[in-house]
Amino acid sequence: MRVAIVGGGVAGLAAAFELEKARRAGAGVEYALLEASPRLGGVISSRMDDGTVLEHGPDSFLTEKPAAIALCRELGLGDSLIGSDDSNRKTFILVRDRLVALPDGLMFLVPTQLMPTVLTPLFNPVTKLRMGLEWFHRARTGQEDESVANFVRRHYGQAVVDRLADPLLSGIYGGDAEHLSVQSVLPAMVRLEMEYGSLTRGMLAARRKQREAARKAQPSAVKRTIFTTLRGGLQQLIDALIAELEPQSLHMNAAVQSLEVDALGWRVRFAARATERFDAVILATPAWVAARLVRGVHGPLSDELASIPYSSSITANFVLDEATLPTLPPGFGFLVPTLERRSMLACTFVHRKFQGRTAPGRAVLRCFAGGMRGEQMLAESDAEIARVLREELRQILGITSEPLVAEVRRWPRSMAQYSVGHAARVRRIREQANTLRNLHLAGNAYDGIGISDCIRLGQSAARALAQIQS
Ligand SMILES: Cc1cc2nc3c(=O)[nH]c(=O)nc-3n(C[C@H](O)[C@H](O)[C@H](O)COP(=O)(O)OP(=O)(O)OC[C@H]3O[C@@H](n4cnc5c(N)ncnc54)[C@H](O)[C@@H]3O)c2cc1C
Repeated sequence: MRVAIVGGGVAGLAAAFELEKARRAGAGVEYALLEASPRLGGVISSRMDDGTVLEHGPDSFLTEKPAAIALCRELGLGDSLIGSDDSNRKTFILVRDRLVALPDGLMFLVPTQLMPTVLTPLFNPVTKLRMGLEWFHRARTGQEDESVANFVRRHYGQAVVDRLADPLLSGIYGGDAEHLSVQSVLPAMVRLEMEYGSLTRGMLAARRKQREAARKAQPSAVKRTIFTTLRGGLQQLIDALIAELEPQSLHMNAAVQSLEVDALGWRVRFAARATERFDAVILATPAWVAARLVRGVHGPLSDELASIPYSSSITANFVLDEATLPTLPPGFGFLVPTLERRSMLACTFVHRKFQGRTAPGRAVLRCFAGGMRGEQMLAESDAEIARVLREELRQILGITSEPLVAEVRRWPRSMAQYSVGHAARVRRIREQANTLRNLHLAGNAYDGIGISDCIRLGQSAARALAQIQS
């Protein structure tokens, strides 16, 4: 079986590695990985600068999602895996130009400790009272999806949307809480509401169960950190994947333009108008690209794929001489609510988040911009983006020193937005794709935006095909 994998981000590479293993095991599969750009890895890219890791896209995996860590181990990168330094894991929110720490006991959006919630300057007394009364909240009767903002508003009021939900979601998804689907983005919260009515009551009960389980667990169980990364940068994962693949199967500068299907299988057309035949196709591109590629094959599938919105992302890494910096707030960094009217969405103090990835005496501040509310910034030059973000760092943190390195990267239309109704849309997409023989979809548009989710989908698409063949 000849398989075309379209898109060489981590989803496409994970699919290729699965097919490569099947090929080595004698399954009779061949693959061609077709990537539009000159490099593989998609939004995962990092480089080492004089002993300091600079991550241009993502910087880590969520430890609780196992696929990325398992893949790193399988590729022989186990010794390079490091956890986040959670002793420093405090996050600040910008409130009227001042940084305010998230209160202790806040679990994502849910307050679970009384005194820190009562004392935090993040909310006014009316909001705090409302947060306390949430204890008596009753579950909603309907089952239909709603926006994260609506869900949070029903429980805790508008101030919690503005000061927490909005900056957390624009920080993680580059998204807008008014449009993101609560069922797809916060499924655990929806389950808590269904079971307990009140999120605070539900979260406390869940924590009690966790503690109970931890007490019963082996005393030797290693404490897991929230985030895991690779000591030398996430590019290590991409390089290790590429090293396992057959070089003649990897095609860069090979943008696919369209697909056709007939009784003999798939015809894949490239930029240079050349067409090649394959028995199966894994589409591991953003959904808006997949929509274009299947337009002539399945109109309704194409329409559904095209209706998944995307946001763009900008990262800027500033390497600074630590001796020239004012004292930074004690944490991983800060988030910026829309109400603050800044270009910056978030800033990570990278040297605090992971130990051993920054040269001694250096600090790395990684700023995020773009998102649903900052798309126009992508049109600016690198110098202008760096200037605007440095000016905001001056105003917020008092940093005036020149960075030793300043690197800006743009990731246009790269982050799928799971808008209200996403789960039903993905169900329809799967049903429609299943009517086409040997077509699989992978990538961040469907079932999880994180690296581990993309790896999992790439692997399962490849396994489904390899199974047919073996
Ligand atoms: C700035 C940023 C920070 C992030 N931070 C984190 C994080 O810390 N942790 C985490 O888990 N996740 C994070 N994410 C999300 C995660 O990195 C991505 O969702 C994931 O890497 C996407 O992988 P992918 O393979 O689906 O898509 P992509 O990486 O977008 O790859 C798709 C590939 O398809 C190619 N392509 C497009 N059109 C064509 C065509 N016509 N023909 C051939 N090839 C084509 C593209 O060139 C690209 O290489 C972050 C994302 C961004 C942008």
